[in-house]
Parts: sequence; structure tokens; C-alpha cells
Amino acid sequence: MNSIKWPYPLEWEKEEVIVSDVLVLGGGVAGCMAAISAVKTGQKVLLVEKGATKMSGAGGSGCDHWESAATNPCSKITPEELVKAMLDDNDGFNNGISHYIECREGWDRLQDIEKMGGKIRDTEDEFRGAAFRDEKSKLMFAYDYENRFTLRVWGTTFKPAMHSELKRLGVKVLDRVMATSLLTESGRQGGRCIGATGIHTRTGRFYIFRSKAIIMCLSRPARIWLFSPALPGLCEFRPPQCIGDGHAMGWRAGAEFTMMEKSVGAEFSASGRSYPPYGAGNNHNTWYGASLLDSYGKEVPYVDRDGNIITDVAGRFKPAKGQKFFLKGGSVDNPKYEYRGPDTVPFSKMLEEGYKLPFYADLSGLPEMERKVIWGMMVGEEGKTKIPVLKNYSKAGFDSEKHVLQCYGTGWTSAAFLPDERQLFGLPGGFLNDWSLSTNLKGLFVAGDSLYASNCYGHAAATGHYAGRHAALFAAREQLTGTVDSQVSAEKKRIYAPIYNNPVKSFGWKELNMGISKLMQNYCGEIKRDELLNIGLKALKDYEQNIIPETFAHNPHELVRLLEVFDILTVSQIILNACLARKTDCKALHFLRGDNANSDNEKNEKLIVIKQVGDRIVLRELPVDFFGDLRENYERHNEVYTGGQSNG
Ligand SMILES: Cc1cc2nc3c(=O)[nH]c(=O)nc-3n(C[C@H](O)[C@H](O)[C@H](O)COP(=O)(O)OP(=O)(O)OC[C@H]3O[C@@H](n4cnc5c(N)ncnc54)[C@H](O)[C@@H]3O)c2cc1C
Repeated sequence: MNSIKWPYPLEWEKEEVIVSDVLVLGGGVAGCMAAISAVKTGQKVLLVEKGATKMSGAGGSGCDHWESAATNPCSKITPEELVKAMLDDNDGFNNGISHYIECREGWDRLQDIEKMGGKIRDTEDEFRGAAFRDEKSKLMFAYDYENRFTLRVWGTTFKPAMHSELKRLGVKVLDRVMATSLLTESGRQGGRCIGATGIHTRTGRFYIFRSKAIIMCLSRPARIWLFSPALPGLCEFRPPQCIGDGHAMGWRAGAEFTMMEKSVGAEFSASGRSYPPYGAGNNHNTWYGASLLDSYGKEVPYVDRDGNIITDVAGRFKPAKGQKFFLKGGSVDNPKYEYRGPDTVPFSKMLEEGYKLPFYADLSGLPEMERKVIWGMMVGEEGKTKIPVLKNYSKAGFDSEKHVLQCYGTGWTSAAFLPDERQLFGLPGGFLNDWSLSTNLKGLFVAGDSLYASNCYGHAAATGHYAGRHAALFAAREQLTGTVDSQVSAEKKRIYAPIYNNPVKSFGWKELNMGISKLMQNYCGEIKRDELLNIGLKALKDYEQNIIPETFAHNPHELVRLLEVFDILTVSQIILNACLARKTDCKALHFLRGDNANSDNEKNEKLIVIKQVGDRIVLRELPVDFFGDLRENYERHNEVYTGGQSNG
């Protein structure tokens, strides 16, 4: 028996119906911006969020750099050049549409956020005179100081500012409600999307949302391969409640997905496997530019793209000779445009050359502005760093002028993982979209990290705003459609089932998540084989038929955690089916097969699109550049926004 008294009134099975013109699922970066742009068109907008919109999602705890502000006044590159680099970097396996929107509108969105109250400039002149600061605009740049398209920002101010704007504009925000399913016309899988259902995470109340247009902003899956029942809150880099509910809901409704076979060897995670992101020695992302020392204090040199040793700190922030610009930040999975500093030299070679483990990140020798901007601004504004790293380390005595931070794992990282411990990191698979950011389900739009090959704050803000505009246009010309009772009652039955099961002989959410994660490590690890993948699918079916009916929840919290794990199971099924569909290795997708039947390279250059129809898996192929000419198509689909003008 659970002896803890539940502190909220219980409202199991009690129904509430809410009608809107545009329904936004998820109040993260994309969801907030989608709701803001949709409501400005005069549509009635409802935003449903599992947590508290003010600080929820991957961007809720901050962000230290805004990538792809290609149209900011100091940028020396065009949106077209930047997107081309993003596509080339991934051999074309990237979302040309969404990243073009990001590069074209990212700067516009940053200015919107500034108007809402977010801080994007060094208004206190703290960094006056720094090489990375533009004295006139007071904007600060990261990584490539020559080309100035990535901005350093005070990201902890952004979500509270967006939240105030939602309120000011009259968006109805429903916090602490988990969306659980999509409702479709006539209750038919593959039919027009006409609403959604949800459950209150504190009271257990059931919601039926009816709407003309729905925007999916529930981010991407997590906890598929990585889970620790002992440290569940620290399982992954992303917030623990963002686990791919949207993917599972979309799959059940018949939405199309692509690149779901892509996973990368785990990088940032915790689960007892790594130290807190940005809290251990490294020189990536937030810490880019930090010096690295071996245990005897010998400095590991930075080298440029061509392997030349860089002799001064300023050189770390410039492209190599003959290179126009370089990429750095969150979405560089297969670096071609990037230079990675010391780790372009294989680690084994470093040891051969006499460097001694462990390594340390050292800011003490950097010019004052470079040191201060990493420790105090980037570490502080980056997600999850303000309290656990900046505040707590400082309180414990860490002084960036004197001390070094140890790196862990076998190099300059915060952890070492096994090859079968994988993650949807960087640019993973997701919903397939068209130029309206619409899915194959009429009425269902998608933005942010729910999209295939998506990543980053600016991308989420730009695609959110764009999806909001297009969904609002759609809603303005469509009628509300009635929901189907049998579809609603089937969902009610599904989600409440665990509270009626036998608490004595039942499984909880942690056991089930652990089981799925181990299963995925064993049967869908680094190297794929049809036989293994099929065993994995069979085992998941067994969980579905025999374990899920034996799960139990004492209260709404446990029920929501269980529903999340049911979705993790569904997402695992999508991944296994997508892996089965790709028959040969694909480097860009980090996809390795142990049973390459034949090397059909032509086929391998295609996107595999996957959806569910009843019990069947339906596949089709698309050229990776199915979106056509980016600038031309963007302008054709955005005449209202651009006013017929091209600002590229
Ligand atoms: C630690 C960290 C640091 C980062 N730093 C940077 C950076 O410096 N620069 C950068 O460009 N990017 C950064 N990113 C990435 C960036 O934050 C994300 O790409 C961005 O937030 C994605 O926006 P989104 O709206 O798609 O998802 P999120 O912002 O994660 O929002 C998804 C929302 O959906 C809600 N939700 C989930 N499931 C449900 C459900 N079933 N029902 C209702 N609501 C639900 C969640 O609570 C959440 O609020 C960072 C990410 C992390 C984790």
C-alpha cells in the first residue's frame, strides 16, 4: 500500500471538453512561438503543456548560444550558404525545409524574444572591447568570430519572457496536462486530425480538446536505450518528461516519420554514466575555446580543419586558411565544416605522443574576456548550468582564474559509454513535413524537435512561429469537426487501465522502462541484424500484451510516468521497424549493419518514410532533397510573411 497521501483532489475519469481554433501541444520553445504567431492572426489558441510553461522543456533552463542567425546585421554569410553547409555536413540527410526556415527567420525570432523581455545584447557593457562583441549593436558572437552568425545569448531569460507574452496576447495556457492521443475524423487512422486528449498530471482529470488545427511541439524521444531506475531524473540530457509522447501519438494516428533508424552512440547523459553536462572538463559547445592540459600540465594544441597547429587563442575562433566559415554548436553530427580543436587528433595518437591521462579543461590562461564569457556567461546561461554548475561549483570554491576541471572517460568528455548505449542526439528522426510544416495528416502541423533532423533553440523558435502562421491560415478556412465517442472512450480505457489493476502483483514504470532500455541495447544496439531486430520487436509485443496489462499506478504522478513508458515502448517499435527497413550501412545516419545483404548505394541515399496502417508497416522512399529549391519554395509559401519581398 502507498502510505503517502495524494495532495490534490482526485478526478479520475471526470471529463472536460475545451474547444479552440488552433491547439498547440507542448509549451516548449516551439510551442510558445507557435501559439504566439497563431494568436496574432485572431484565432483562438489553446496551449497544452505537461509541466509549467514558464520554465518547461529543453530550453526552459536556458541556452547559451543561438545558432543560425544568418540575417543578423553583422553576419557575413547568407541563409543559403548556411543551410548548404548543414545539408552537406550530413550527406543530405537533414531537414532542408526546417533549417532553411531557421536560417531565414532565426534572427527575426530573436528580435521578437528581445521585445518580449529576453536579453540578447550586452547592455551593461560587461564585455566591452571583446573580440566577440560588436560595439555598435552590443551583440556577442560565439565560435566563428569572423562570420558572426551564432550569437551568445542570455537564454535563461527567454522562456519566462515568452510565457508573459502568451498571457499578454490571450493564449489559453493549460499547464500540467499531458497530451495522450490525437483524435481523427470519423476516428479513422490516417484521417484529418481534429483534436487530442489529455490527462491532468495532478488530478487525473480527462480532457477532450477539439480544434480545427493542431500543432505538434512535443519534442523528441528519449530514455529509449538509457535509463537508470536509481537516478531517473538524470537519465538523459533532455528533460525527463520529454520522451517522445508526440511521436507515439502521431504513430498511432497514422502520421509519417523518417530517419527513425538513426541513433548515435550516447554522448551527454547522466544515469550515473556521466558527470553533469558542462560540469566536467571539455572543450565543446559551451566550453569551446577552453585550453586542455594533460595531467602534467602539457597543453594539447588546437588544430585547424587542415591539421595545422593553431598557436594563439584568437586562432581558435577563425576559419582555417581558405575556409569561408565553420560550424559549431548543437547540430554537427558529421563534421565537415567544423574544426574540433584538439580532438581532430585521434586520442590514441595523443597517448603515443606522451600525453598523460587525465586531461583537464583550463580557462586560467585565456584572455580575461574569453574566460569570463565561458565561466559566468555561457556556463550559467546554458541549460542546466546556472544552479548545478555555476552556483554550486563557485560556492564550493571553484575559481576559473586558478583551477582546472577534470575530464572523464577516455578523453576530453564527461563520460564514456558502451557502443550499444545509444541516444537520439543531434539530428535524429521525427515527423516528416512539407513546406507548410504540415504532416501527412490533414490538420496536423509540426514544429521544433518533433520534426525529423531537428535541433536547437533558434530552429524550434523559427519553425514554431512558421507552423503557427500556417496552422492559423488552415484553421481560418476550416470548420470544427465532431469527435467520435468510440475513439474517445477507447483512449480513456487505455490510459486509466493501470489504476484498476492489481497493485500487489504489478509492475511499475521504472521496471518497464528499464526492461525496454535493456532490450533496445541488446537487440537494437550499434550493429543491426534483421534477426536481432525481429527478436526485439517480438519481445516488445510480449511486453505490450503481457506486461502493460499488469502495470499499476497509485496516483496521477505514477500514471503519467507509466503512460510515458508506454509511449517509449511505441517509439522503440517505430525505431526497430525503421531499422529493419534500411538494409545497408549508412554513414550519415550512423547506421551499421552486421548483415549487409547487398550494398545498394542508390537506395541508401534515400529517406525511408514509415507509417502504421492497422497492424501493417507501410514504407516509401523519398530523395533526401525532396524539398526542391529552398529559397524559391520558401518564398512561394511565405508571401504574407515576406510581403512578397526576398530578404535572403
Ligand atoms: C541542457 C540543454 C542545453 C541546450 N542548449 C542549447 C543552446 O545553447 N542553443 C541551442 O540552440 N539549443 C540548445 N539546446 C536545444 C534546445 O533547447 C532545443 O532544441 C529546443 O528547446 C527544442 O524546442 P522544442 O519546443 O521542440 O522542445 P522543448 O523545448 O523540449 O519543449 C517540449 C515541451 O513539450 C512538453 N511535453 C512533452 N510531452 C508532453 C505531453 N505529452 N503533453 C504536453 N506537453 C508535453 C514538455 O514539457 C516541453 O515543455 C539545449 C538543450 C538542452 C537539453
